[in-house]
Amino acid sequence: MAGDYYQVLGVPRDASEGDIKKAYRRLAMEYHPDRNNGDKSAEEKFKQLTEAYDVLRDPQKRAQYDRFGRVGPGAGGFDFHHFDLAEALSVFMRDFGGLGGFDAVFGGGQRGRRARRRGQDIQAAVRVTLEEVVTGTRRTVKLRTLERCDACSGTGSKGAKKPAPCRTCGGVGEVQRRADSIFGQLVSVTVCPSCGGEGTTVADPCSECRGDGRVRKDRVVEVEIPAGVSSDNYLTLRGAGAAGPRGGPAGDLVIAIEVQEDPRFERHGGDLVYDLAVSFSQAALGAEASVPAPGGAVSLRVPPGTHSGTVLTIRGKGLPSPGHDRRGDLHVRIQVWTPEHLTAEQAELFRQLAALEGEPPQEGLGRRFWNRMKEALGA
Ligand SMILES: [Zn+2]
Ligand SMILES: [Zn+2]
Repeated sequence: MAGDYYQVLGVPRDASEGDIKKAYRRLAMEYHPDRNNGDKSAEEKFKQLTEAYDVLRDPQKRAQYDRFGRVGPGAGGFDFHHFDLAEALSVFMRDFGGLGGFDAVFGGGQRGRRARRRGQDIQAAVRVTLEEVVTGTRRTVKLRTLERCDACSGTGSKGAKKPAPCRTCGGVGEVQRRADSIFGQLVSVTVCPSCGGEGTTVADPCSECRGDGRVRKDRVVEVEIPAGVSSDNYLTLRGAGAAGPRGGPAGDLVIAIEVQEDPRFERHGGDLVYDLAVSFSQAALGAEASVPAPGGAVSLRVPPGTHSGTVLTIRGKGLPSPGHDRRGDLHVRIQVWTPEHLTAEQAELFRQLAALEGEPPQEGLGRRFWNRMKEALGA
């Protein structure tokens, strides 16, 4: 775990709220999962940054943190909460998503003062096979979610009536509070309590959606799953989540990928390992074998004199990696199979062989196996 929240954001302990926000925004954009190909360590960093930011941006939580530090349950005072990715993303979007969404943040777009509230992110899981990891695939995902209300076109108001400007804030979405203090008059700006920052209120609510601008509906989404995915990956479909209230921007649809285990293979990133059993005679004389691979079996020449534990590599028959052209390799681990039951004829032939064969060497076999294995996996 990284150091304390101030260190995580790289700000001094007396940093202003603005400095904290600036530092977080810069780092969060650097480590945002969408900019790092779903890289795990970036994701971890993004979560830590957001956690630190969410505490330090809030004066009350920050004061508590300053006083009690990072403490466990029971030590008193500070409620420490680890973010998961969905929470971290939603905090980021809440404060930096704005009306133009994520792209506007990267493009340096301006955030309006009137905040239309954003719809919720939705999560869905998709299962794919190894074959589909090779080729990439498409899935149809059925969602039951909040969609724009057709009766009021998402405004929340009955008939053609438009929502009226909020009387509390005059449509600005913010209110100023003035308070006298020993330093003089203090002015603070907060989100308008009447309209929640939207700047408008619904006088005559639509009867279909009760003024929310959304109704529950079924929706079908086509999801393109790229080649090379693994169970650690997720896909974020911007704006494919729930609609925002009264015309607010939609949330995201986050698709968690689950790659179905194929018991025949061990997966190491883009590389696969397969155990191939060969008989004594095949190992000694050499053989042509058929090896299963995602997308169709491939043939493999087992050379004469192959030891048990030898790893033969078939280039380019593993899995693709996202963002790479080349597929990984298929490593075939040779296992010499010892028959447990012999027919009389087989036993007789083995006895004849035994009379002719030499003594096997006793040293170094185990080490040779592990060296080959490491070599094959590029370790
Ligand atoms: Zn208002
Ligand atoms: Zn409606």
